[in-house]
Amino acid sequence: MPFRAAIVPVTPFQQNCTLLWCERTMQAAIIDPGGDLPRILDAVERSGARPVKILLTHGHIDHAGGAAELKERLGVPVEGPHREDAFLLDHLAATGAAYGIPARSIMPDRWLEEGDEVTLGELVFDVLHCPGHSPGSIVLKHRDEPFALVGDVLFRGSIGRTDLPRGDHATLIRSIKEKLLPLGDDVAFICGHGPMSTIGEERRSNPFLV
Ligand SMILES: [Zn+2]
Ligand SMILES: [Zn+2]
Repeated sequence: MPFRAAIVPVTPFQQNCTLLWCERTMQAAIIDPGGDLPRILDAVERSGARPVKILLTHGHIDHAGGAAELKERLGVPVEGPHREDAFLLDHLAATGAAYGIPARSIMPDRWLEEGDEVTLGELVFDVLHCPGHSPGSIVLKHRDEPFALVGDVLFRGSIGRTDLPRGDHATLIRSIKEKLLPLGDDVAFICGHGPMSTIGEERRSNPFLV
């Protein structure tokens, strides 16, 4: 694959903040910087890559809580999630106070919608809008390689919780079945929590999809 990735678990929720970079240009994106910025910046330093943007899969605090500060520190734009998650991003500071996690509210520089493309150096990702866990959750699928970043939509052996504000179980299942399963069994994905998996593995064994 023409890119590399490093996963940095952040926040008490052990969220998989992902540093992803284009090997050809060494341009990097930081996906879902929920917090623990020193650990994220360490990973950036070790990679030797140059951060050019922050991407958000959705607006929950463990994914987006550190985005405002990181944007300021690095001077890079924030892309995503879908604007349906604006209500979550607006309230990050208050949510952070409730959970005891330092967080700031943020408004992205670019909202993402179904069919949009996100570029990183020579890499191109297609945007899939996958509501259900949150109404504005997005998935990023590498256009040419069997690889996706799925946030909290789908996990190895599980799916995103749907008991949070504006979560909906039936909508989430529909997003997974109509948008993710058709990507193909060979597609590997990094998810918001826990180990990686593949679409095929989840199609065969995920108890929520049978
Ligand atoms: Zn979430
Ligand atoms: Zn999460």
